[in-house]
Amino acid sequence: MLSTGVERPVDELGRIVIPKEIRRNFGIEPGSKLAISVDGNKIILTKSVQACALCGSHENLEHVGSDTLCHACISKIKAH
Ligand SMILES: [Zn+2]
Repeated sequence: MLSTGVERPVDELGRIVIPKEIRRNFGIEPGSKLAISVDGNKIILTKSVQACALCGSHENLEHVGSDTLCHACISKIKAH
């Protein structure tokens, strides 16, 4: 595991700022969701990966309403 050597204080509401460089590397933007898990004494933040709601593909994704679908599934839906 890579340590950044960066320490940040937790504010009175329990919030912590993720360093800008890490946010940029992970493509974390305002509104991005991170899954929080605990492993022993570690708190792990995982950026949820966008995937097609129907087949789970990570390629050619498009937002359709509130869903994320891949082009292949969108074509299948349109064909019906
Ligand atoms: Zn799909």
